[in-house]
Amino acid sequence: ATAPELRRTRTRSVCCYCGVGCGVLIDAEHGPDGSRIVGIEGDPEHPANRGRLCTKGRSLPQTASSLSGRLLAPELRHLRQETRRPVDWALALDTVADRLAGIVQQHGPDAVAFYISGQLLTEDYYVFNKLAKGLLGTNNIDTNSRLCMSSAVSGYKLALGADGPPTCYEDLELAKTVLFAGSNMAYAHPVLFRRLEAARERDAEVRWIVIDPRRTDTAAMADLHLQIQPGTDVALFNGMLHHLIWEGRVDAAFIAAHTEGYAELKQLLRDYTPRMAAELCGIAVADLIQAADWFGRDVAALSLYCMGLNQSAHGTDKNLALIHLHLATGQIGKPGAGPFSLTGQPNAMGGREVGGMATMLAAHREIGNDADRAELESLWGLPGHSLSAKPGLSAVALFEALRSGRVKAVWIACTNPVHSMPDIGQVREALQQAEYVIVQEAFRNTDTVPYADVLLPAASWGEKDGSVTNSERRISRVRAAVPAPGQARPDWWIANEVARRLEARLGPPGVAPLFAFDGPAQIFDEHRRLTVGRDHDIGGLDYPRLDRQGPQQWPFPAGAAQGLARRYGDGVFATANGRARFHPTPYRPVAEATSARFPLRLLTGRLRDQWHGMSRSGRVPGAFAHSPEPGLRMQPQDAARRGLAQGDLVKVISKRGELVLPLELSDEVASGTVFAAMHWSGQFLSSGGINEVSQPAVDARSLQPELKHAAVRVEKAEFA
Ligand code: SF4
Repeated sequence: ATAPELRRTRTRSVCCYCGVGCGVLIDAEHGPDGSRIVGIEGDPEHPANRGRLCTKGRSLPQTASSLSGRLLAPELRHLRQETRRPVDWALALDTVADRLAGIVQQHGPDAVAFYISGQLLTEDYYVFNKLAKGLLGTNNIDTNSRLCMSSAVSGYKLALGADGPPTCYEDLELAKTVLFAGSNMAYAHPVLFRRLEAARERDAEVRWIVIDPRRTDTAAMADLHLQIQPGTDVALFNGMLHHLIWEGRVDAAFIAAHTEGYAELKQLLRDYTPRMAAELCGIAVADLIQAADWFGRDVAALSLYCMGLNQSAHGTDKNLALIHLHLATGQIGKPGAGPFSLTGQPNAMGGREVGGMATMLAAHREIGNDADRAELESLWGLPGHSLSAKPGLSAVALFEALRSGRVKAVWIACTNPVHSMPDIGQVREALQQAEYVIVQEAFRNTDTVPYADVLLPAASWGEKDGSVTNSERRISRVRAAVPAPGQARPDWWIANEVARRLEARLGPPGVAPLFAFDGPAQIFDEHRRLTVGRDHDIGGLDYPRLDRQGPQQWPFPAGAAQGLARRYGDGVFATANGRARFHPTPYRPVAEATSARFPLRLLTGRLRDQWHGMSRSGRVPGAFAHSPEPGLRMQPQDAARRGLAQGDLVKVISKRGELVLPLELSDEVASGTVFAAMHWSGQFLSSGGINEVSQPAVDARSLQPELKHAAVRVEKAEFA
């Protein structure tokens, strides 16, 4: 007998790891035993990567080809002590709807919260956001993007009047001065980094300045590495701008025509002489001046920044102080220039567009703005005043409220807060205390899954349809190459099914049912209609157009032939009067100072080949070749002073908790600082990873926690 023939397909989609948003071609085989992803190539037609992929992207088929560890059926338990048992979807969905409706009826809508993810597709995000805000009437919906880019959002909104980078990837090739701030781009955004490398190889005029307290691989390749003391970025940017102002190197015409607040900023910057700023930062004054001089050259200057600025209790100030450099020199809105925040997750940007956060409404509308709420009520067919004007609980506050009992139920989708939140001891306590925990996941191996009263199996990469927006505001279609295994379902479908049942139990808030979606195309259509006339209008984009023309940047209003590559090229900003705004930003130190008990500064960051809590990349053996083990990196002299040697098991202790790691001697950190990667979680360690010790102080405006810095001590671990 001849073997049954396998059918092969090739599907155009997007890598699900980082905000670069690389296009991929997924090869799959379909036979009598089912379908399987067997290969991947970079999409040569996708403008983000032009065929390139990094090691994470290339290994995606290995994460998708095995069913081991996948959740294949809903699971339910009635009492915490019980083991969860598999059930069918109808029972799982009815139970979730019954429990949520009961809690809302007894305690009000704010007793329920949602904690979702920048890994979700825009359509998933949209349905969750409409469910929380439109149906239940609570703004308690936040996302792990709060841990990632919310300081960039508040920086853009305050300075430029609207969220979203003014730049595009083409600027990487056109910039002459590239300033990396708090970004180890060689690891975190590798395909974009290769574009930068190629541009520098072609052009001897290009200069790279890297600002990082750690000598990362990105810093090692810089023309100038400013190894500042952790958290002193604002002092550095203020000192650089002081130098440019007092040397007469700012763009006075641009400042006069297109900005406001310059006089107040200049007054503040009087104190930030290069000498004073360099001392605060712990760097040579000549290096600060060199950086300012390169930035102030009459050539295009581009800033690339990420978690090092954002994950800070003063993240908004850091973003603003950097944007000031661009505004004061007119380095914005033109080729190769501008402040470019890189998103960490594949769809952090799409989540912002649909308003999937506790502090915003759909299509970048404001919760506190009466007209914005009224407009959205009308678009969703809701009665007047039905949307809550009360800001919801952001990530850290949400888990605090769960711990204190103010919030009774939480629905966690596609994220692992017991690994990624700061001070995870408190998060574990919150989930233990919660009345009801729903976890929607593709994988069983996360630290959050054990807390679930109900587990909802979600489709994963290669199995879902929808769209994502990458760091340059480019919307790409995501397509399924294979069906989801077992009973796993797309995230939008799960949210939609629960929403329909809740609507039946609580009564529909509007005239027409809110959740009659039959697929991602219909959801995207509703989403785009909400953006018409807004800053990121995508009224001219639908799935057929994306399929025809390929990925497109926003804004893309009706009638446009293509999206806008660069914003603010006309010098008109998105503020009410069209002027960008300077906000004087004094330097303030990190939230937690070192002390005699906790004398070391702990920095956190990424490894080259791992992703988040490794629920996906940890399934790829080759991903461990570059960094096989967890470790705490410490400067050799600091270790010797403590009687510690390479490979010793050490305890890292902060006011919140402790964990044990092997010691790695490394000159990449300065004396007084130590570094640990954020990936290792409870799957690999006896404790829950570095967030056992991180601290939950947040930026007052962005509400983003300071995951990048904590005061710790390090001791040799003693075992009985
Ligand atoms: Fe995926 Fe990011 Fe690598 Fe591109 S750079 S292949 S999006 S992980």
